[in-house]
Amino acid sequence: MIIDAAVAHGSRQPLALEQVELDAPHAGEVLVRIVATGICNTDIGMIDHVPLPWPAVLGHEGAGIIESVGEGVTGLKPGDHVILTTTSCGKCANCLNGQPSFCLSFQALNMSGGRRRDGSCTHQQHGKTIFGSFLGQSSFATYSLVTERSVIKIDKDLPLDVMAPFGCGIQTGTGAVLNTLKVQAGKSFAVFGAGAVGLSALMAAKIAGCGPIIAVDTKPERLALALELGATRVINPLEEDAVKALRADGGVDYAVEATGIAAVMENAINALGFNGAAVLVGVASGQKVSIDPTAVQSRGLTIKGTLMAGRDAVPALFVHQLIAFWKAGKLPVEKLIRYYDFAEINEAIAASKDGSAVKPILRLMGEKA
Ligand SMILES: [Zn+2]
Ligand SMILES: [Zn+2]
Repeated sequence: MIIDAAVAHGSRQPLALEQVELDAPHAGEVLVRIVATGICNTDIGMIDHVPLPWPAVLGHEGAGIIESVGEGVTGLKPGDHVILTTTSCGKCANCLNGQPSFCLSFQALNMSGGRRRDGSCTHQQHGKTIFGSFLGQSSFATYSLVTERSVIKIDKDLPLDVMAPFGCGIQTGTGAVLNTLKVQAGKSFAVFGAGAVGLSALMAAKIAGCGPIIAVDTKPERLALALELGATRVINPLEEDAVKALRADGGVDYAVEATGIAAVMENAINALGFNGAAVLVGVASGQKVSIDPTAVQSRGLTIKGTLMAGRDAVPALFVHQLIAFWKAGKLPVEKLIRYYDFAEINEAIAASKDGSAVKPILRLMGEKA
């Protein structure tokens, strides 16, 4: 079928709304009409820094309505409302161990470039394969062809244009705190970087009963939002040395790094107090972080990594827990969202880059939603 997609033709180039040919669902696949999709920093990082085989269709926070299902798909049917997340194999040790976010075939399945394991193409343009199925989705398009393992069915009364980022950004920030760090109530918490992932982490820390909760960011408007969402203290490192300030109070029990900047990762680790744990969430491809092993030893520190739902967590289960928090008013993600029409995708990306939009969400074909 012919779909409309935002096509990236090269590094740091604006996306172009063009027609792309999308294959019909094969066995185990699902065709989803995209109603809304978030824009995540990973999409922007790909466009700006990763030499993909262009052209490419990015996007990995899709939400929509199932149009059709391939052979053998059970439990999903046309008309179901769904949010999409990364795919996984379901068969490797990590998948079998209930950790599909760390699927051992993650790279092969989620960065396949639009080719299935049998070599057939999902996305084509002018008879040529284009890089699709990005992080299992390529949701910057009117339709996504995904595996059933990418699909999380949700109730029809939930707003798809709020739920979309639960598939990556919201899940990643909250998962880092609730699943990977497994924070305890009453312990101190600091987040470095108050973007969508960092603020999701902060909301999760509040849900878990952490305190004090400190947000560190260079943008005053994001610090104001952090205070609104539950931060008890904010630090602007342009005005105050965050590590020095946090260590002066004995250091924090937990630190989340959500900027993807190596120096900030070092700050998050250095801000820990005795027995503290830091989790690195931001993507810092190719960068190196230096740590002082003596400090790690003498203070008994823990440094963890996380992806998507985090450690010991299944996205399809965790997202429903997050939806329960959202319904209870404990995860007010609307405060992070700014809406754009699909055609405004380049403006939305620019707003994300300059910090004016924390979580841009594109609405597609809203009149039919
Ligand atoms: Zn993402
Ligand atoms: Zn797997």
